[in-house]
Amino acid sequence: MKILLTSFQHSKILTTISRFSVARWQPKGFSYPKLYCFSPRVTGGMDLTTEFSPKDYKTFYDEILEDNRNEIKEFMMEQFELATPILALCCWCNSSRQKDREHLYCHTILIGHYIKKQFPYVEFNYCDGRDKDWFADIFLGEEDNE
Ligand SMILES: [Zn+2]
Repeated sequence: MKILLTSFQHSKILTTISRFSVARWQPKGFSYPKLYCFSPRVTGGMDLTTEFSPKDYKTFYDEILEDNRNEIKEFMMEQFELATPILALCCWCNSSRQKDREHLYCHTILIGHYIKKQFPYVEFNYCDGRDKDWFADIFLGEEDNE
């Protein structure tokens, strides 16, 4: 199975594959099935925004993923049972929305790393600016400890 991590904008052309929203809400005109387990919303109502440092962002978002681990596993198992060959997880972020940033600041990058750890055989495509992985340093540090 392959998972595309991408923007709603880019997903418009992916008309033949299953598309899901992993954002808190969707842009006008989109109504993909929502995966709340991946929504970047910290318990207690605080939104996870680009105001956070990459390290804090990753720490908070990893907690969200950990809290939702059963739902995430259920979603993945469901896709395996359906034999879904390819699907897209969509968020608002793309380079044209974050012109002031060197790297795209998007939780979908972290979703990729998280699922890869649980299901190493799943392939990922980091699309629409996500190839420039600004979390790389943090992840490299982690691998050193393993
Ligand atoms: Zn995003």
